[in-house]
Amino acid sequence: MDRRLARALASIVGEENVLVDPAELLVYEADGSLVTATRPDVVVFPGTAEEVAGVMRLAREFGVPIVPRGSGTSLSGGAQPVRGGIVLSLARMNRILEVDLDNEVVVVEPAVINAWVNEAVQRAGYAIAIDPGYQYAPDPGSQRVSTVGGNVGHNSGGIKCFKYGVTVNHVRGLEVVLPNGEVRRLGGKAFEAPGLDLTGLFVGSEGTLGVVTKVTIRVVPLFEAVKTILATFDSADAAGSAVSALVRSGVRPLAVELMDKEAVEAVESGPYAAGLPRDAEALLLIDVEGSEPGASQDAEKVASILRAHGANMVRLASDGDEAQKWWAARKQAFGAMGFVGPNYVVEDGTVPRKALPLALNRIREIVAAHGLRVANVFHAGDGNLHPLILYDERDPAQRDAALRAGEEVLRMCVELGGTITGEHGVGWHKRRLLPLMYSEVELDLMRRIKAVFDPDNVVNPGKVLP
Ligand SMILES: Cc1cc2nc3c(=O)[nH]c(=O)nc-3n(C[C@H](O)[C@H](O)[C@H](O)COP(=O)(O)OP(=O)(O)OC[C@H]3O[C@@H](n4cnc5c(N)ncnc54)[C@H](O)[C@@H]3O)c2cc1C
Repeated sequence: MDRRLARALASIVGEENVLVDPAELLVYEADGSLVTATRPDVVVFPGTAEEVAGVMRLAREFGVPIVPRGSGTSLSGGAQPVRGGIVLSLARMNRILEVDLDNEVVVVEPAVINAWVNEAVQRAGYAIAIDPGYQYAPDPGSQRVSTVGGNVGHNSGGIKCFKYGVTVNHVRGLEVVLPNGEVRRLGGKAFEAPGLDLTGLFVGSEGTLGVVTKVTIRVVPLFEAVKTILATFDSADAAGSAVSALVRSGVRPLAVELMDKEAVEAVESGPYAAGLPRDAEALLLIDVEGSEPGASQDAEKVASILRAHGANMVRLASDGDEAQKWWAARKQAFGAMGFVGPNYVVEDGTVPRKALPLALNRIREIVAAHGLRVANVFHAGDGNLHPLILYDERDPAQRDAALRAGEEVLRMCVELGGTITGEHGVGWHKRRLLPLMYSEVELDLMRRIKAVFDPDNVVNPGKVLP
């Protein structure tokens, strides 16, 4: 570690906001993904965009990489340093700056936790009769810990994104610090900005173009009522087929999630057990929203479509409490995997919705061929698969097999017309696979765009682009 760099950083952000102790640096070599990379040389906690700009200028001067970091829940190695350098944690920039419901926007600093936005704009819990308030729709499973800045970095999705779209559909404006230390405003509160969509370019750029220091996000009104439907099936592919039929019917649910038997077994073995049927091979959890009578009618329609397409049990949640219990179980499914296996790799790929049944069968075959087990819990409405491949870390051969099976699953997704990531980002782990989806011409265009923003390759080098 260059002591001059640490001293220079301390002069910008204050000594108390610089970490150099190797023991303290240790946690910043990891994020939510399986493989750890390298330990950073230093971690800094700037408190303002100007301080971020100062850190950027220093990084360029010293020729060291900067890795922006929100809560570090990235599942693709996006928040890990791969060449040492500076981890720039946004953790201190965590204020909600403005709630402007006249314009249906909220302005936040990047380390505001996703769920805090909802708490700020929602008057009360689930569905209330009059004036239900607003919501920030993108709701990743990690919403109680992940930051809005990290969500922007990965263009995160979530359960409600089937109806409302992913993060990019909700970001109106950004304040960003470019690698040369300039602070720039992109977009704003207005509905549309003319010219090339630089805001859109930044969303999903995984911290490779600059650091986001402010986000203006769109919030949408909550509906009067939400109804939750639970349906069970004899197989995961039967549930997948029912999803296609449901979407074709023209009803537009808020959320359509699928859990297979192994995933149900995991959540029902832990503290979030919600009475989900353990004997079903697969289940769908579906929300519809609207006025009280409208949501009830839609729920009826959904139930009859599911019955007509192979569901052997369809139930409407008796009240908001039961619905919340079901959804809490779904949202805790990743964490609950510890009840059915010591370790897991979570993959994230998409397939066209129609290919879901085929993809689910192929996943089982691929994982079984490696001698492992798999649980599936995913955003079925979006065709966004999340196979959780179970293995035992104490056996290196199993770990390698799990990683190989994961890669085969992603290759299969591309073969079926899908993608190597739906929402968890390309990061460090999947950049090798990007050529499966893009030609050399397209990859070269992406590299040139990166170079326009970051000619010295200072911010998050080694990520996204192969
Ligand atoms: C249990 C669990 C469930 C999850 N469920 C979902 C899900 O349903 N949907 C989903 O989409 N994801 C999900 N994720 C993945 C992850 O939570 C998301 O990718 C999330 O958006 C990351 O936010 P973070 O604050 O942790 O960002 P980090 O992990 O710290 O960073 C993510 C990326 O964004 C960059 N970045 C962070 N902050 C900034 C900034 N201010 N400026 C520029 N770049 C920045 C980082 O460099 C990195 O590349 C889940 C993860 C876990 C562990």
